[in-house]
Amino acid sequence: MSEAALPPLETTGPRFGIKKPEQRHDMQGDMSDNERIAIAMRHFVRDFGAVAATWMESCVHCGMCAEACHFYVQTGDPKYTPIWKIEPFKQAYKREISPFSFFIRALNLKPKVTADELEQWQELIYDSCTMCGRCTMICPMGIDIAALVGLARHGMNKAGLVPHELWAAAQRAEQEGSPLGATAKVFQERVEWMGDEAEVEMHMNLDEADVLVTMSSIEIQKYPQSIAAVAKVLNHLGMRWTFRSDGYEATNFGLLSGNADWQKDMSMKLIDAAIRCKAKLLLLPECGHAYSAMRWAGANAYGKPLPFKVRHISEFLGEHIADGSLRVKKGLDTTVTFHDPCQVARRGGVFDPPRVALEALGAEVREMKDNRGMSWCCGGGGGVISIHRADELRYKAFEIKMRQVDETRAEKLVVSCANCRLSFDDSQKHFHWDKTAQSLLELVADNLAD
Ligand code: SF4
Ligand code: SF4
Repeated sequence: MSEAALPPLETTGPRFGIKKPEQRHDMQGDMSDNERIAIAMRHFVRDFGAVAATWMESCVHCGMCAEACHFYVQTGDPKYTPIWKIEPFKQAYKREISPFSFFIRALNLKPKVTADELEQWQELIYDSCTMCGRCTMICPMGIDIAALVGLARHGMNKAGLVPHELWAAAQRAEQEGSPLGATAKVFQERVEWMGDEAEVEMHMNLDEADVLVTMSSIEIQKYPQSIAAVAKVLNHLGMRWTFRSDGYEATNFGLLSGNADWQKDMSMKLIDAAIRCKAKLLLLPECGHAYSAMRWAGANAYGKPLPFKVRHISEFLGEHIADGSLRVKKGLDTTVTFHDPCQVARRGGVFDPPRVALEALGAEVREMKDNRGMSWCCGGGGGVISIHRADELRYKAFEIKMRQVDETRAEKLVVSCANCRLSFDDSQKHFHWDKTAQSLLELVADNLAD
C-alpha cells in the first residue's frame, strides 16, 4: 500500500504534530504558584476515596515495587521508584485528611508541598510512569500505584501542570474530536479510501447495527490498513456493523492527561453513538488505554451499567476463533512472540485470546521470559510516547523489551495495541533493530479462510 495514496495528514510535527517545548516543566494558564498549589491539593484531596486512603495507609516501605518498574530498573535512579512518584499526593493525604492530619499539620511532620516540588513531580507522574501497573502486581500490600498516578494526574491537570504535548493533544481531541487530526471528515475519507484500496465493503453511519466499531487515531493516521482489516473480519463474520462519524475515536487523551471532564466527554461520544445505533457490542480497537477508558471506566462516565457489551478487538478475535465462527488459514507458519499490552493484558486480564488467534494462524508462540501479567511495558504507554523530552528515558525502558524479544529468537513480533506498535516502530528506528511489530488484527484479516 503506497503512502502516496493516503489523503494528506493534518498532523504537522515530528510525531504527534505538537511543537517541542523549550522549558523543562510545562505550565498552562497564568496562575500564581500559590494558586497552583491550592488547586492541586484541593483536587488531590477530592480524589481520596476510601480505597485510595487505605492504600496511603498501607505502604510498608519494603521497596519491592522498585524492581518492577522499567524506569527505575534501567536507570537505578531512586526518584523513579514507584512509591516515590506519589509522594506529593501522599503528603496531601497525610496533611489534609489522614486520621492524624491535625497533629501532622500542627507539628509540620509532613511539610506543605511547594510549587517547585509540584513542577519537578510533573516528570515523575507523566514522563516516567506509563501507568502500566507492573508495580501493582508486585506490591505485597496490593497498592495500585498506577491508579494513584492516574488520580494524581487529575490534580496536576487542574493546576495546569501537564507536559505540553499531552495537554495540547488532549485539548485538540476535545475541540476537534481527535488528538491527531483524525476529524470526522478525515475519518470518513479514510474509510472510503481504504474501502476502495482494499476492495472491502464499508458500513458508515448506519442507523441500526449490532456492532459499533471504533478506531484509534494512531491507526487512522499511521496504520489505516487496520480500518480495512476490521471491516474484512466483521464482513467475514456476516455481522451487522457500522462505523459512525459521531463516535469513532476510541483514543482518550482526557484519561492520559488527567482531565476527568474531557475523559468523560470522549467516552460519552462513543456511548451515545452506540446507543443511537442500538449496538449490542462496542468494539474497541488495538489500543490499550482505550480499553481501560471504556471497559473499566465507561460505566462511571455513563452513571449506570452500559447497555451494550464492550470488547477489545483481540478478545473478540480470540473468542470468535475459539467458537469456530471466525475461520482462519494457517498462514503464519513461523515462530512468533506476542507483546502483551499492559492495559489489555495485565490491567484487563486478556491473556489467552491473542494466543488462541496466533495458534489458529499456525504460529508457534514463543513466550518472552516475562509475559502475560508480568510482561514489561514498551515504555510508551500512559501518554509517554507523546512527550518529546521523555524520549531518552523511554528508549532506556524499551531496552528490556528488546532484549526479551531477541531472547525468544522468534521470527515475528506481534502486538495488539497501536500505541505499543508506534512505540516499537519508533524504538526500532532509534536502535536500528531488525524486528518490526505486526498487528494481530491485520494478520488475522490477511488469513481469513475462504
Ligand atoms: S505503573 Fe509502571 S511505570 Fe508507573 S511506577 Fe508502576 S511500574 Fe513504573
Ligand atoms: S511494594 Fe508496596 S508496600 Fe512496598 S514500597 Fe512499594 S508500594 Fe510500598
